[in-house]
Amino acid sequence: MTHPLHALPLQPRFTTLSPRFYTPTVPTPMPGAEVVALNQPLAQALGLDLAATPDLADYLLGNRIPQGSQPVASVYSGHQFGVNVPQLGDGRALLIAEFAAPDGKIWEWQLKGAGPTPYSRRGDGRAVLRSSIREYLASEALHHLGIPTTRALALAASPQRVWRETAETAAVVSRLAPSFVRFGHFEYYFYQGEPERIRELADWVIRHHYPACQAAEQPYLALLQAVISRTATLIAHWQAVGFCHGVMNSDNMSILGLTLDYGPYGFLDGFDAGHICNHSDDSGRYAYNQQPQIGLWNLHCLAQALLPLIEREDLLAALSDYQPQFEAAFAALLQRKLGFSQWQDEDWTLVTDLFELMQATHTDWTIFWRTLSHWPVQQNSAELRDLFLARTQFDDWLARYAARLQDGVDAASRSAQMLATNPKYILRNHLAELAIQAAQRGDYREVQQLELCLRQPFAEQPEFAAYAALPPSWASELSVSCSS
Ligand code: AMP
Ligand code: MG
Repeated sequence: MTHPLHALPLQPRFTTLSPRFYTPTVPTPMPGAEVVALNQPLAQALGLDLAATPDLADYLLGNRIPQGSQPVASVYSGHQFGVNVPQLGDGRALLIAEFAAPDGKIWEWQLKGAGPTPYSRRGDGRAVLRSSIREYLASEALHHLGIPTTRALALAASPQRVWRETAETAAVVSRLAPSFVRFGHFEYYFYQGEPERIRELADWVIRHHYPACQAAEQPYLALLQAVISRTATLIAHWQAVGFCHGVMNSDNMSILGLTLDYGPYGFLDGFDAGHICNHSDDSGRYAYNQQPQIGLWNLHCLAQALLPLIEREDLLAALSDYQPQFEAAFAALLQRKLGFSQWQDEDWTLVTDLFELMQATHTDWTIFWRTLSHWPVQQNSAELRDLFLARTQFDDWLARYAARLQDGVDAASRSAQMLATNPKYILRNHLAELAIQAAQRGDYREVQQLELCLRQPFAEQPEFAAYAALPPSWASELSVSCSS
């Protein structure tokens, strides 16, 4: 059974929550609807029939909505750069409908950039083409890298002017997730002093998204433990692939442990532990090496909001599990990246020494790991050495690594495992930028080519080899701010 978008059958479960949680809001139409990109494999997998949707571009832009749909914007709050903001909310995203995929899983469909809502504050409710392309490409790139994330179904554009630093044009991303509930949803009712709403939301999240918690002795504590565990795993994935989120405010943290709200994110090119991808982040609060502890900081915000439901000692005990869980998840990923059959405690020293060498040269993160993945079979040290300035020190490291590989695993299967873990293709900033520049001239082919390539980040794909090259020198000059 497939659904065209104009006839999505289900009223979102989110609207079974009391009206306090959202405000019915319809999208504001825009002229000249145009489809920029369609994620057909995702549509097919989820049973959506885009081809059977008449006036598809108008549905994707929010000019038309499915029959019977009552879109809503939800209210939340959150800590932005460490500061509590009493009310945020869906300022430009609308929950349009939800539907069941062929496997029975239920998905919510949001339009991001579909016009003002009661929570827009001083914003215009719009998203520009530039940032919408970034969200569309990155969410699918992360998904195909095996990282939990919201998904992107489609991208539509309008020639309507939107003012940021300069005049740009508007676009709307259709994004999908089982739920878009954020830590900030809980925080809102905590700071409003409405414990009954916190309980209502926690019950709803458990019923629909963490049903296993219902059987626990303390379901709310079990929920927090599950969110802690998913967040630790998520951030371990980010660190392993070199993804920097850029704005880890607690309102951008998903209760499902998904990567959510793609803004000034960036993938590492050259390794720099303190890399700050968001040019508005002066203090480096959300630098690459800060992400794991910021994850914990945000979980403290969530835990505080759950104080009406969970004893303080239990909250603290749950939070103390975060660090070991993060380390275990990160070690498991590093083990696969390095091609080890198991992780040993001493491996941390090997990894720390490697990171120091990479830091000194700003060795390209992705190219290093991909090259290392070939090394067990090809034993071509020259290619690896070329990635480091301190070559003799790197030789020492490689000798230690070679010794560590004496574990009976054959080289071919080791290399195969590494190649399936260390991607060849990531969404480098400059690649997104080139696709954006072409799209701003009305040429969407580069967006579509990149999307195609990033669907198979671990495959060789010789036709896309240029996307795997070192970034050009101008890439380091690119500035990505919160403006979107
Ligand atoms: P973000 O930094 O994108 O996560 O957004 C933070 C808050 O500002 C959220 O409540 C957004 O909905 C809101 N927001 C961001 N941009 C706009 C915009 N152009 N119009 C209305 N609200 C916005
Ligand atoms: Mg946000």
